[in-house]
Formats: sequence, C-alpha cells, structure tokens
Amino acid sequence: MTAAREAPLRRWLSFRPYGTERAHMPETASAHEDHTPYSAGIVSVLPFLYIAWADGLLTPTQIEEINTRVAAQSWLSPDERERLRGWLDPEHPPDATTYYRWVRQIKASAHDMPSAAQKSLAELGVDMARLAGVDGPTDEAQRALAEIEEALGVVGREAVRELVGERPPAADAAGEVLPVEVAGLRAALDGRLAPLRDRIRTLLCDPAFRYPETETPTEEMREIVLGWTRRLADHGVGAVAFPEYAGGHDDLEGFIASFETIAYHDLSLTIKFGVQFGLFGGAIRALGSDAQKRTYLPDAASLALPGCFAMTERGHGSNVRDLQTTATYDAAAQEFVVRTPTEPDHKEWIGNAAAHARMATVFAQLVIVGQGYGVHAFLVPIRNRAGETIPGVRIGDSGHKLGLNGVDNGRIWFADLRIPR
Ligand SMILES: Cc1cc2nc3c(=O)[nH]c(=O)nc-3n(C[C@H](O)[C@H](O)[C@H](O)COP(=O)(O)OP(=O)(O)OC[C@H]3O[C@@H](n4cnc5c(N)ncnc54)[C@H](O)[C@@H]3O)c2cc1C
Repeated sequence: MTAAREAPLRRWLSFRPYGTERAHMPETASAHEDHTPYSAGIVSVLPFLYIAWADGLLTPTQIEEINTRVAAQSWLSPDERERLRGWLDPEHPPDATTYYRWVRQIKASAHDMPSAAQKSLAELGVDMARLAGVDGPTDEAQRALAEIEEALGVVGREAVRELVGERPPAADAAGEVLPVEVAGLRAALDGRLAPLRDRIRTLLCDPAFRYPETETPTEEMREIVLGWTRRLADHGVGAVAFPEYAGGHDDLEGFIASFETIAYHDLSLTIKFGVQFGLFGGAIRALGSDAQKRTYLPDAASLALPGCFAMTERGHGSNVRDLQTTATYDAAAQEFVVRTPTEPDHKEWIGNAAAHARMATVFAQLVIVGQGYGVHAFLVPIRNRAGETIPGVRIGDSGHKLGLNGVDNGRIWFADLRIPR
C-alpha cells in the first residue's frame, strides 16, 4: 500500500468527532478557537456540516455529494463556497475545535427555537440563519438546502433529534415502552470494537456497495465483488490484522469483527474478503518468514497481489495430513518442485483461483532426499501480472454454484513448477 493512498483512508477510518463529542464535548469554546461570527450562508449550512462529520452517519461519497452541491449554489458568496469546500473534503476532516464550534452553535440556536428537535436539517439551517439576526435566507436557498437533504437520502430529522432533542421512547402496539433498549443492546454486542464496526457499516452503506440485479451473470458478479473487496482494501480494512508495515495494527480480533460485520452485507464479499486477507494473507502472516511477510503482506493488504489458499484437494478436505501434492526440494538448484502427482489430486474449490489470484499459498507434502517431512505451506505464483496462467500451472473453473457466485472458485494442477527456496 503506498503512503499517498493510505493516508487519507486512515484519516477517514480514525476520525470520530461525534463519538468523542458524546463522551466529553467541551461545554465552552477553547482559547484557540476562531470567534469570528459565521456569515448567514455558512450558518444555514451548519447542520449539513454537522451531519457530514457526525460519526458513522454519512459515507465519503455522500460527503462528496454535499460538497459538489454546495459548490454549485449561487446564493452562497464565493468566499462562503470556498470555506465550505475546505470543510467538506472527505479526505481532510475538520479539526475537533471547528467541529465542536458547529455543534455548540447548533445546540445553542436550537435551544432558542420552538420544536427544534422536529426539524429537518434544511429547516434547522434556515431557522438558524434567521436567529443569527440576518435577513431570512432566500427562497432559492431554502429550496436548495431541502434538495441537498433529499439527495442524501438520510433521515435528517432523526439526526437533528439525536443532536438537539430527546429520542421518543419505542413503544409496542399497546403503547407500552418496550423492554429492549436497542442502542444499549447494540453497544453491548459491538463491545470494544464498536467504532470499527460502525465505520465498516458506514462504508458498506456507500452507494458503491449497492446490490446488482439478482440475475447478474456469474462473471459480472465476480468482478463486482472484486471491486467491493478492493474498496475495503483501499479503506485499510483488509490490513487490520497485519503488522504496521503492511498498513495494519496486528489486530486479529478487529479483523474477525470486520469479517462478521461484512457478512451482514453480502456473503460472497465476506468469503472473498476472508480468502484474500484471512486465508491467503493470514497464511503468510502466520506461517511466512520475516522476509516473506515484508515482501508480500503490504501487497496482499492493498490487493495489489490477489491471492488464494490452496489446501483442499479433490480427495482430501478434512484429512489435510494425507494431501497428495508434493514439494520436492532440489538442493542443487535451491528450489522446490511442486507437483500434482495424478490428475484427481488437484486442488479443489479454491476461492479466488478461477479468475483473480496471482499467487497461492499451496499446502503440500515436503520431500527432501526421498524423505517425507509432512505438510508445509509454499508461496507459489500461478498467474503473471497480465492475469495469464504461468507455465507449470493449469487452472479450471468450478463454474456457477448454488450460492456465493461472487467468488471465483477453481481447481489447480501443478506440473513440476519450480519455486525458489
Ligand atoms: C464454496 C467452497 C469454497 C471453498 N474454498 C476453499 C479454499 O479457498 N481453499 C481451500 O483449501 N479449500 C476450500 N474449500 C474446501 C473446503 O475447505 C472443504 O470442502 C472442507 O475442508 C471439507 O472437505 P471435503 O469437501 O473434502 O469433505 P470431506 O473431508 O470429505 O468431508 C465429508 C463429510 O465427512 C465428514 N468427515 C470428514 N472427516 C471426518 C472424520 N474424521 N470423522 C467424522 N466425520 C468426518 C465431514 O464433516 C463432512 O460432513 C471450499 C469449499 C467450498 C464448498
């Protein structure tokens, strides 16, 4: 993963002013805060700035959507548009002081406003501008704000109520308060990894993860799921369990929580994600030498190197000890020779093998000078950068399955393929 690509994504994953605000939002302005009053145009957009950066409410694409629309509003002055543009860049969140100033101003205005908790974002912005003592926003401005809110497709009223008012108690059909407190239950189930799970949920709400038509052909579905996996990798999610030099922080529990959370969206994506980062990358992480980890983990994490985990054979699934594939050491050449002894000994059901993987962690019987040393894992290239199968490797496609058709399962045969020690 390159530094340029990594930095903004990390920022998005780690920024959480709203969560912090809930816990200990400063009641008063800080000494370093800029106290210059905001102009009417800025004040009317404050509720949108708040929702853009409130924890887990909008995806980067939605923030970009507000940015694009705000930039097109002729009722805002060029200075206002420029200032707002700086606050609506998904890759550069505002600093906490600025964010808290917005929150405080919204809360203070709402306090002086009848029924503030029932307003939409647009209504709140318009009334805030009026309260600020300036002429009421024009009809054009009011319409534009309402359109932005509608285009976002978010429940603005709920966000406003969450910030400035009390949430009405949930009630059953008889009007009695239900015994389950949803937010509390969710917090208990999410545990210490709630912020990570929230960020992944938000990411998965991005329009980029929208489901395709149910009758999408297998080939197309595989590419869609590959694109989704790439997007997760771009946001650093695949690297969570890897060391820092590969973009992660050695958090295996976080990786499992990510895997679970992704499963609420799509199971093909879950398996593709699990194969790439958990099986392929995970095997390198757990079994590789330090040099192998440093060479391959960063590219496995960023999906620059798509890989697969080739353990199962047609005749050996649960019984891994008796796998038939061999890796025979050639001491003179300092190479291992990987071989599928007979046609039915091929690797079977291997996820990512049929179309995308360029490398495989192959589980094979290690043989040195005629002596067997049991099953070991070997890093074996199977395709070149152009996606062509390399000499010594044959790959078959498991084809359309009853389910998980976003995953390209395949079979692999090795014909005395040589890999360096
Ligand atoms: C969609 C899909 C994706 C897959 N992806 C991968 C992949 O990416 N990489 C990979 O290496 N493999 C992959 N596999 C293979 C998977 O790991 C194997 O299917 C699994 O290990 C079981 O092996 P098997 O199918 O040979 O079943 P078998 O091992 O033959 O088992 C058949 C049945 O016998 C039972 N059984 C087996 N041994 C015993 C025993 N000793 N005592 C009692 N009962 C027993 C099993 O529980 C099972 O019910 C995938 C499989 C599928 C279906």
